[in-house]
Amino acid sequence: MINMNRRPVRGILIGRMQPIHNGHIQVIKKTLEEVDEIIIGVGSAQLSHELKNPFTAGERVMMVTKSLSENNIERNKYYVIPMEDINFNAIWTAHVKMMTPPFSKVYSGNPLVQQLFEEAGYEIKTPILYDRIHLSGSEVRKRMLNNENWEELVPKPVVKIVDEINGVERLQNLNRKEISEL
Ligand code: NAD
Repeated sequence: MINMNRRPVRGILIGRMQPIHNGHIQVIKKTLEEVDEIIIGVGSAQLSHELKNPFTAGERVMMVTKSLSENNIERNKYYVIPMEDINFNAIWTAHVKMMTPPFSKVYSGNPLVQQLFEEAGYEIKTPILYDRIHLSGSEVRKRMLNNENWEELVPKPVVKIVDEINGVERLQNLNRKEISEL
């Protein structure tokens, strides 16, 4: 029987998700063993069309949502929320709090994110890194630039969406323009 008095425990994971990869999926699955619901903050939402940040917030929300669905994660278990950066680190946690459902646990391996949320009184959890040598956004983008196998590092829906938006071409084009501007 459901205990109606128990408040749901929510955790937040904030990442740029440029793009979401299989490491993020593993962390999300593991986190959902510890919390009832997870908030996925798509960080630096204002950035796109850059070598380090090629995809828009909308494209990234689509990649995250479809990837979670493909991994059979129930729709009522997560929220995907774009989060713009602000210039003031000292009040960033208040900005995050304002933009999201209430949460008590923060999942991040990023030292700045940990520091700011710890100062704000939140419980910090450092997720285990899964195959960090290969499972990182920078490795996925590097392989896209070099026409290497990036597809094996990301969930299938990401491959489909990158194809739909000509993402590899976009990234390679951004790289070409930067070189020609030197
Ligand atoms: P990221 O995508 O690199 O990582 C997100 C999280 O995913 C990490 O903390 C890590 O725990 C996990 N992860 C990544 N690869 C993994 C792997 N292989 N195995 C297991 N876990 C893995 O994102 P990030 O750089 O940490 O994102 C932080 C965001 O917060 C950025 O967008 C940043 O701009 C934002 N931020 C903004 C402010 C501000 O606006 N003032 C301040 C602090 C942070």
